[in-house]
Amino acid sequence: MKLPNKKGKFGIFGGKFAPETLMEPLAQLEKTYKEIVKSKTFQQELNIYLKVYAGRPTPLYFAKNFSERIGVKIYLKREDMAFTGAHKINNTIGQVLLAKYMGKTRVIAETGAGQHGVATSTAAALFGLKCDVYMGEIDIKRQALNVYRMKLLGANVKAVSSGTKTLKDAMNEAMRDWIATFENTHYVIGSVAGPHPYPMIVRDFQVIIGKETKKQILKIEKKLPDYLVACVGGGSNSIGLFYPFENDKNVKFIGVEGGGKGLDTDLHSATLCKGSPGILHGSLSYVLQNHDGQIHPTHSVSAGLDYPGVGPEHSFYKETGRAQYFEATDQDVLKAFHFLSETEGIIPALESSHAVAWVINNKEIFKPADIIIINLSGRGDKDVQEVANIEEGNL
Ligand SMILES: *Cc1c(COP(=O)(O)O)cnc(C)c1O
Repeated sequence: MKLPNKKGKFGIFGGKFAPETLMEPLAQLEKTYKEIVKSKTFQQELNIYLKVYAGRPTPLYFAKNFSERIGVKIYLKREDMAFTGAHKINNTIGQVLLAKYMGKTRVIAETGAGQHGVATSTAAALFGLKCDVYMGEIDIKRQALNVYRMKLLGANVKAVSSGTKTLKDAMNEAMRDWIATFENTHYVIGSVAGPHPYPMIVRDFQVIIGKETKKQILKIEKKLPDYLVACVGGGSNSIGLFYPFENDKNVKFIGVEGGGKGLDTDLHSATLCKGSPGILHGSLSYVLQNHDGQIHPTHSVSAGLDYPGVGPEHSFYKETGRAQYFEATDQDVLKAFHFLSETEGIIPALESSHAVAWVINNKEIFKPADIIIINLSGRGDKDVQEVANIEEGNL
């Protein structure tokens, strides 16, 4: 059966655990989304923008040097080559175009590091919608360049001073805004998290990654891969890659979370590896929480994985065993960042470097004929300064 079901559930996970005031906007969104996404005009327009604006399809690249070093065949799905440098644009072009079809004049978004805020601002500029981005005060200080980028693109950045002043609080504020403004505003959530129908909508806009990959690998290798490996923050680039292979039981799904300073410390963001089922941002899923259900602070060297929740479909995959979830520590990730830069001339995002690190660390489990596809979710230019600071001992 195709999930989620009518209640927005993936097994026991997902659903709509939201205040009454959010039920009306969610119901409206679900109804109009279903109508619009079926329409040929919408699909045609979306495909044109994905192609001529966002640069799709992205290449599936055989990483020869990397393969020789590990002793298997490794392909990289080059989402780093999508416009704005990551997979996030797939979702924001889809959702902002959807907002336009729904007759909305304004979009809002939450952002942590600013990647989703930039991708939303980009699509809002393209389609001529007003854009407000909620961002925690601490993140605003940490990510000054992305704040300026959003302003440059015509968006308004709204500082959030509640809670930990980071991503989770920005998401709370965006939801509050949406409850009051949904008549003219669409809320663009950045990953496969949040209440139904968001995990489904974001997945639908990200499955293009997996669909292209399947076509490309069948053309090159005439067979399916043995492993699909992707990093997991909220879980959108990974679910986008995995989903079209769901019924291909011999294709193993590997999700790699932010191991931070190690799973035996409190400084990580490995929600599926170390969390437990709970409710966050309107959905039942794995969460990093204490005994009272209070959310744990998280840490990862990559800002994009630094989230205490995860999409409900991943929790379902974990419970059913369809996917396996591991972690890579900050230290391994920095090594992988250098490794790919040196062996292939490709500087990966620190998020994507988690997937690269897992493959390097698990060399001995592969057979020589195995085909591994790593989703290179983004490019690492945004991280170069940060890594330089860490290595100079300034952080
Ligand atoms: C935001 C981001 C991620 C994490 O988000 P998912 O929803 O888990 O995909 C991973 N990689 C990059 C480059 C990102 O910008």
